[in-house]
Amino acid sequence: MSSIESAITDHVKNQHTPHMPVLFLGHGSPMNAIEENEFIEGFRTLSQNLPKPSAILCISAHWYTQGTFVTASPRPATMHDFYGFPKQLFGVQYPANGHPALAGETVDLLRPETVIPDVNRGLDHGAWSVITHLYPKADVPVIQLSIDYTKPAGWHFELAGRLLKLRTKGVLIIGSGNIVHNLSLVDFRNMNTLDYGFDWAFEAREITNQLILSGNFGGLLEYQNLGRSMQLAVPTPDHFLPLMYTLGLRKEQEPIRLFNDKLVAGSLSMTSVMVG
Ligand code: ZN
Repeated sequence: MSSIESAITDHVKNQHTPHMPVLFLGHGSPMNAIEENEFIEGFRTLSQNLPKPSAILCISAHWYTQGTFVTASPRPATMHDFYGFPKQLFGVQYPANGHPALAGETVDLLRPETVIPDVNRGLDHGAWSVITHLYPKADVPVIQLSIDYTKPAGWHFELAGRLLKLRTKGVLIIGSGNIVHNLSLVDFRNMNTLDYGFDWAFEAREITNQLILSGNFGGLLEYQNLGRSMQLAVPTPDHFLPLMYTLGLRKEQEPIRLFNDKLVAGSLSMTSVMVG
């Protein structure tokens, strides 16, 4: 049994917790939406053993805004928010319903912060490229919460905590990004070479994994002060901040497990996290 399978089995056995787990999913290339690889297998294994959620709330690296917004369309479009990929990828649709009532509840829970409902925004690939592997029938409604790029990591961590109640209502909250994510240094020749990473990327993965697993989230909030390897791993915060939401929703003593914990293309990690 793999570590993620045993983690899931433990979770399902634990009948005392009424909380849905919380996830951080490393999404990597948009091609993961249509490819078969061990990361996709990791997502499938996860979903087959999770309690079926009533809805999904996704915080994706690809909705990076001034201020905080929530999708409020009953039928969000599938956004193809990338360039230079095969035509097949632009044909993918993920026709999950939205959930305007959940969007409204999210606005209420996050007060006094102002969260603005957006009825026009669809689902970006940071959301659908991974959720499609969890729920390929698109039979779970999905909403997205944007990431306010004017705010520091600690603010996002605190904000997430206000969403804890949603975990008791069957809502699966997913942060979608990549912990190590330096696109300018990607080695495209090694896009599919498993666990191919530069030395600094391995070092950054080690640092972050230790802080995550030890529950030392304060160290992660100060990621800019963790040395040169972390500065290279997180050159901009967009793909790192979704992790703050996942960790900010952890209840004390809840188990934390990693899966898909591999590097690709030198400067990206697919490391994913399950809390609960
Ligand atoms: Zn991305």
